[in-house]
Amino acid sequence: MSHSFEHERAVAAQAVQEAARLCRAVRGSHGPDPVAKGDKSPVTVADFGSQALICATLKAAFPDDPVMAEEDAAELRSPDRAAVRDRVVAEVAALRPGSDADTVLGWIDHGNLTHFAPRFWTLDPIDGTKGFLRGEQYAIALALIVDGRIEVAALACPNLEQSRSTVGPVGAVFLAVRGAGATVLPLDGGDEERSIQTSDRTDPSRARLCESVESGHSAHNESAVVAARLGVTEPPVRLDSQAKYATVASGVADVYLRLPTRADYQEKIWDHAAGALIVTEAGGTVTDIDGNALDFTLGSTLANNRGVVATNGPLHDRVLAALRG
Ligand code: AMP
Ligand code: MG
Repeated sequence: MSHSFEHERAVAAQAVQEAARLCRAVRGSHGPDPVAKGDKSPVTVADFGSQALICATLKAAFPDDPVMAEEDAAELRSPDRAAVRDRVVAEVAALRPGSDADTVLGWIDHGNLTHFAPRFWTLDPIDGTKGFLRGEQYAIALALIVDGRIEVAALACPNLEQSRSTVGPVGAVFLAVRGAGATVLPLDGGDEERSIQTSDRTDPSRARLCESVESGHSAHNESAVVAARLGVTEPPVRLDSQAKYATVASGVADVYLRLPTRADYQEKIWDHAAGALIVTEAGGTVTDIDGNALDFTLGSTLANNRGVVATNGPLHDRVLAALRG
């Protein structure tokens, strides 16, 4: 009999919710100023704090499961980063009273898996850091991968409305277990968890497209060509993070295009694992731009794939054809 993953789902949901509280607190208290990360993307106090909390939760609940997370604590250990480290520790201790620096850095280090494992979690503690800095969309993305298959996904989107028709507090948590469907619940609690489905739209000319805000992450000029081929006249909705997968999963958008901007970039698994399961469990389809399934067996990147296409399902083949066009 197959494993139901009910416990994993519950732990993952609680973990991303607690991390979202920290992210909101960082924005509220001293602002989300970036701490440069080498020559790469920005990273903030909240990225480290979110990773610490989620790793702490996973370590306690599933001590044998390794975690492949985006950040590492090495930088925080250098003496010239003491001020940042102290702020990370203070933010974590606000939610986990008594946590000291060694404990918090140890939790961050728990996310240090770099290679594929038979069963592991992958975590982006803040996906869409640029959106977080702008006060726009970002996500906390956690997924469990077993034998290369995504089994459980939890995606907190603190600035996303649950659906266009819902009036109420902003902020949603999306959950999925493979074979058991996808759901959404309010980030701030309440037990009104409801199942979500992708749209049933079949007319490509009416497809609602979404893509990254950052033209360096997805080629906007090429998605415009694809849209024209489909006959779409509405401009795409641009939003940061895996909130794009959430909008497709909940039927608010029909197509998410992530078109490579350079040949040498390999997509990171933590940017896609949670969102991809949520879309497929909501009835959608996720492949790369060549129509191949995403391959999560290769370590930290989707080295066998180019770009990503997530759709409601019915429109998928039309979108792939437009990409080939
Ligand atoms: P998004 O919010 O959809 O723009 O995606 C944010 C993610 O894009 C970050 O977490 C990065 O890991 C990832 N990223 C960085 N550089 C690139 C690139 N050249 N192409 C695609 N994704 C990238
Ligand atoms: Mg990311």
